[in-house]
Amino acid sequence: MRILVTNDDGVRAEGIRHLAEVASEFGEVKIVAPDRERSACGHAMTMRDPLRVKRTTVSGIEAYEVNGLPVDCVNVGLTVAFPDGCDLVLSGINNGPNLGFDVTYSGTVAGAMEGCINGIKSIAVSMSVFADGAPYHYETGSSWLMHNWEMLVDLPLHDLCFLNVNVPAIALPELNGHKFVGMGRRIYQDRVERREDPWGREYYWQGGVVVMTPESEGTDVWAVTNGYVAVTPVSLDWTDHGLLSMWNSGRTRS
Ligand code: MN
Repeated sequence: MRILVTNDDGVRAEGIRHLAEVASEFGEVKIVAPDRERSACGHAMTMRDPLRVKRTTVSGIEAYEVNGLPVDCVNVGLTVAFPDGCDLVLSGINNGPNLGFDVTYSGTVAGAMEGCINGIKSIAVSMSVFADGAPYHYETGSSWLMHNWEMLVDLPLHDLCFLNVNVPAIALPELNGHKFVGMGRRIYQDRVERREDPWGREYYWQGGVVVMTPESEGTDVWAVTNGYVAVTPVSLDWTDHGLLSMWNSGRTRS
């Protein structure tokens, strides 16, 4: 099995090393990742600047660092690292959660999305750490992946579907297992903070405090807060098919 590993935290991030090491147990791994942190770049791609690729190694694994975004890395990877294609794209392990609507901002998820668009089975993996400075517990993610590799890789998927996996950042003995769940809701409050620079000029810093809304069972937010790995099938078809068939059956007035 040929496996392309990417991320949005950069080729030197701790998480990608863990992911590549696990993947090496199951196939031929090549890492193609951004040369620096590119978190929250979403599904953006570089079109107006040249992409430079530098050969390197990570944990003894063949690696390429790219001055681009995760989407660029997947596409460059399919040209440079695996010109004959690959069987699996893994993205992560991200140093933070990608739950609910985060999937629309996440560069980690975008890496898997691009693999999926290229017709390759793709999985994004993130450590759901919620407090600043709390340990990431990548070893829990690695260990869970190692033990559940076959289950995960063999899950039946539709063409336009990839997997978003969130591992709670807790020690392995505290892990309760995994749940197949849908996207929950994570709302950010005070998203934009006004600050002043040393010269009294105002500037704004975007981030915000996440408010975990009480979630019903069956969502990714619920799963990770209850000590389960959240495995979510995400479809690239964003069409609201229910609404579409309602409109097409003549119900166009509310
Ligand atoms: Mn990241």
